[in-house]
Amino acid sequence: MEHHNHDIVIVGGGAAGLRAAIAAVELEPKLDVAVVSKVYPMRSHTVSAEGGMAAVTREYDSFDSHAYDTIKGSDFLADQDSVEFFVKEAPRTPYSRLR
Ligand SMILES: Cc1cc2nc3c(=O)[nH]c(=O)nc-3n(C[C@H](O)[C@H](O)[C@H](O)COP(=O)(O)OP(=O)(O)OC[C@H]3O[C@@H](n4cnc5c(N)ncnc54)[C@H](O)[C@@H]3O)c2cc1C
Repeated sequence: MEHHNHDIVIVGGGAAGLRAAIAAVELEPKLDVAVVSKVYPMRSHTVSAEGGMAAVTREYDSFDSHAYDTIKGSDFLADQDSVEFFVKEAPRTPYSRLR
């Protein structure tokens, strides 16, 4: 059996895993980061998303509405603490600031 050694191993090759890999090497470029994926990365759910990423960027919108839409869109299966963290952080991403 082949053995591989890495500083960080990220499980999942969708947007979350790839973004985590980018964040790790942004923080420390010398890190050896491996991404492990069960399916070929281009078959992850991330590639199916067409509607873009949502974030509260206007005064008339609200974190509660975004959180409700996200939880409803998950058929109420989403981890609500994660959703709350996500909706509060989303406006702080570089992409949101460009809009
Ligand atoms: C049809 C469709 C349309 C969508 N449209 C939108 C949209 O318009 N806007 C939006 O914001 N969101 C949308 N979503 C939701 C969005 O795609 C997901 O919330 C997001 O892509 C999740 O990213 P992720 O990296 O967490 O998971 P994923 O992209 O699902 O990646 C999970 C990764 O984990 C890997 N993995 C899983 N289990 C294992 C294991 N045991 N071992 C190793 N690897 C494993 C998989 O191979 C995969 O690479 C849509 C989803 C679908 C299915």
